[in-house]
Amino acid sequence: MRSPDLRGVGMTSQRTRDRMAERLARQGIGDRRVLQVMAGEPRHLFLDEALSHRAYEDTSLPIGHGQTLSQPWIVARMTELVIQETPGRVLEIGTGSGYQTLVLSRLVTELWSVERINALHRRAGERLRLLGVHNARLRLADGGHGWPEAAPFAVILLTACASELPMPLLAQLADGGVIIAPVAGKDGCQWLMRVRRRGDQFEKQRLEPVRFVPLLEGVIR
Ligand code: SAH
Repeated sequence: MRSPDLRGVGMTSQRTRDRMAERLARQGIGDRRVLQVMAGEPRHLFLDEALSHRAYEDTSLPIGHGQTLSQPWIVARMTELVIQETPGRVLEIGTGSGYQTLVLSRLVTELWSVERINALHRRAGERLRLLGVHNARLRLADGGHGWPEAAPFAVILLTACASELPMPLLAQLADGGVIIAPVAGKDGCQWLMRVRRRGDQFEKQRLEPVRFVPLLEGVIR
């Protein structure tokens, strides 16, 4: 019998994944590298078995603990924004299922990812090991503090929404680097923002309306 963790790897889902990549291209994802990676990687392994058949739909899905795996379009869009930057260290806040981490790991050389919920952190680590990811370092911590020992980062990606970007993250950004993050405005609407550091200045750019779970403080062991 096959290991339950490997169900569906191989060719069974390839057509579904190709269709997802075609849909992403129609939705405006232009970077071939992102489409290729997402067409090749098993998103269904990042969900509970009961939901894995919905993995390639155009929707976000629950991963337990009140958290969600983002819809394929937002993963693709954020990955595109990350790899547009010059190569350099990338920090992700909110490992969650580990799917965004997996996609990034195939396209950047040095990756750090922080998650505050131990159960998610551990499961993501197991999945990434199983898939042969060796260039992503994972940590259980409150990502609002960043990862000081590995700073500065060329890109810091948040996959949870803050109303203000935590100061330590701004401080750990390299000069010329960017934070890509959903940020909630006073009206409660969330926007995907790109914030570029120029010395002591931070240039903010609104990209598109999005919906993410909130960035929360503290660690759940
Ligand atoms: N990129 C994830 C999305 C998960 S949802 C995926 O592909 O599955 C956002 C994640 O951010 C959740 O797992 C949540 O627990 C985590 N999170 C929220 N606040 C955090 C914080 N301060 N530090 C680290 N992780 C945080």
